[in-house]
Amino acid sequence: MRKQVLTVFAHPDDAETMAGGTLLKWAREGHAITMCLITDGDKGTSDPNDPREAVVARRRAEQERAAARLNATVVTLGYEDGVLQPTLGLRRDLVRVMRRVRPHVVVANDPTVWFRHGQYINHPDHRAAGQAAIEALYPAVKKASIFPELLAEGYQPHVVEEVWLGPTGEPDTWVDITDVFDEKIALICEHASQFPPEPTRAAFARIAREAGQERGIQLAESFRTLRLAASTVRAIAGS
Ligand SMILES: [Zn+2]
Repeated sequence: MRKQVLTVFAHPDDAETMAGGTLLKWAREGHAITMCLITDGDKGTSDPNDPREAVVARRRAEQERAAARLNATVVTLGYEDGVLQPTLGLRRDLVRVMRRVRPHVVVANDPTVWFRHGQYINHPDHRAAGQAAIEALYPAVKKASIFPELLAEGYQPHVVEEVWLGPTGEPDTWVDITDVFDEKIALICEHASQFPPEPTRAAFARIAREAGQERGIQLAESFRTLRLAASTVRAIAGS
């Protein structure tokens, strides 16, 4: 069955760096991918004289090139980069996107991750985006009485089946990306203003090797996943 996949991330390139190999495989299998970008990545420059409009235009063009490799559609919400908060307004905007796209699978950041590799602090926008995505998923996206204005706009409640989160310190699902690794690097490098070919390749090879290590996979992406139950009580009761 052709599945609808929705990625929900703060910045251009987040989906590709975290799950690019998995997304390439899903695209190859014929699944439909929609990429929701909460911000335009307007802080993605180290040049203080780089005008905001120029940064946004550059990053949008890069995102469109990356999305083309996934046959994906891009949705942007236009929030400001660098200061993202998991507000009710963001939750409402994400519920609207989820009810419109009606995905089987949502891919997002694990909002519980503060640190990575003992070397860096996770971007607060990533935690905020992950938290907002999860709070949209339960219960608002499937409950008509939450955000009734969305119902008035014609967006019917929807049940998402699976959530794939990363990067994560608590993986439970591994995808072998060995055969699409070169394509993943090409996908990431479409974001040329952020990722020079080297050291991008070396960095993501290391991440993929480490992710695959405990499962004996040469190069992997790892995720923390949820198979969302229709009823929480029934799921806990095991029925
Ligand atoms: Zn990011």
